[in-house]
Amino acid sequence: MSPAHPRKESMTFLEGIDRMVDRATLAIGLEPATAKIVQACDSLLQLKFAVPIHGKPEIFTGWWAIHSTHRLPAKGGLRFAPSVNANEIEGLAALMSYKCAIADVPFGGAKGGLCLNPADYDEEALHAITRQFTIEMARHDIIGPATSVPAPDLGTSSREMAWIADTYKTLYPEDVNQDACVTGKPLERGGVPGRTEATGKGVQYALHEFFRHHDEVEAAGLRDGLKGQRIIVQGLGKVGYHTAKFLAEEDGAKIVAIIEHDGVIANDDGLDVPAVRRHLAETGGVKGYPDGEYSEHRDAALERECDILIPAAVQSVIHAENAMRIQAKLIVEAANGPVTYTADEILRERGIRILPDIYVNAGGVTVSYFEWTRNLSHMRFGRLQRRYDELRGRAILEALEELTGKTVADPLRHRLVHGASELDLIRSGLDDTMRTAFQEIRTAIKRNAALGDYRTAAFSLAITKIARSYYELGLAEVPQED
Ligand code: GLU
Repeated sequence: MSPAHPRKESMTFLEGIDRMVDRATLAIGLEPATAKIVQACDSLLQLKFAVPIHGKPEIFTGWWAIHSTHRLPAKGGLRFAPSVNANEIEGLAALMSYKCAIADVPFGGAKGGLCLNPADYDEEALHAITRQFTIEMARHDIIGPATSVPAPDLGTSSREMAWIADTYKTLYPEDVNQDACVTGKPLERGGVPGRTEATGKGVQYALHEFFRHHDEVEAAGLRDGLKGQRIIVQGLGKVGYHTAKFLAEEDGAKIVAIIEHDGVIANDDGLDVPAVRRHLAETGGVKGYPDGEYSEHRDAALERECDILIPAAVQSVIHAENAMRIQAKLIVEAANGPVTYTADEILRERGIRILPDIYVNAGGVTVSYFEWTRNLSHMRFGRLQRRYDELRGRAILEALEELTGKTVADPLRHRLVHGASELDLIRSGLDDTMRTAFQEIRTAIKRNAALGDYRTAAFSLAITKIARSYYELGLAEVPQED
């Protein structure tokens, strides 16, 4: 998706995040000095470097922000986009700190960006640029399994992560943990199954957990169950595609509209998500997709009536100007920062529920955490137990059949005997993370009504967790538990 047009927002992206955090610190009565420590960005480095592109040198500008180091490494995505700027990277690094705290992932927060349009370069050029960016990071000592660890983000994928890993290995051949210098790698290069679709899977698990709580569903003005819910998805990139596909194929939700950079494609009976994605890959847009109604008015499409709106592309797409017109009952922030502070205030007043980014899209970094620990342990998950579990399952099954004199039917037999695969374990860990985090957010609101909404509650939890670790160092005061 192309970046949002400039809006009449009175503050920058970073200021908007800080204001949201201020709201939470006020609600929990956090001491202002402590709040400042938690909010401050540790470091923001600008990197300018030249790369010969087919023989002609070009200068590139990038940033790497480390927001917090209360836990190490600092973790976050690396994005390639023409709109990248220092303020955005600093804001996104802050969101990473809060996200890791919410998901209980023991990392500090970081974010990186390179100001370029990947579509303007061929693979060879992108490889050279990514290599040089990694070398620049190494030169400043800001990449490594124990310092900061990039991951895919907007405009990057497992391909770029493989290039980063390969460059790091060349620079630090003696580092036995070199694989853990970056996450989101291809499977053959130390990645884990389920990382590519992890953020989308996490969004699905977040919605599953939300729909387990009838009172939350009712308060949002929705009916129970995901089946048949009318969903609009903005952005059919990595996150939007997997989210939409899982919700449609596994939960029976109706993806009634998909918004892309060239417009919107809509179908009240529900779109075939993989087919739209194929059309997008082949033609570069959603226009001309045969099984839906096309309109070029992508901004207006966000305002269509629906049950759930999932912005899954870039930040600030719901802003001061359109927040009044949003008709969704629930907004699920699959992207980072899709709702500005001003819009958030308007939507709060209007009673529209928002599941916030720092919770909803934590699936990516959660599975990155699994990949990082797997790289450090040098062993795939389940290698020791899988066959043992299988043997036990078989023994239980045999005992059951012997005692009852009956035979267990095939599907159940398979479930009893099956030892968990690596993907099963990763999905289970992700599901558990998303469930637990939502339950903590709910409990926080129940205990302190001043928190009011999910975002403020999520920030309050994250800030408290981070402040606690500073407290150990004598740098902060922590709010008392009531
Ligand atoms: N880019 C993802 C995010 O914004 C993943 C970060 C990571 O895995 O470190 O959360």
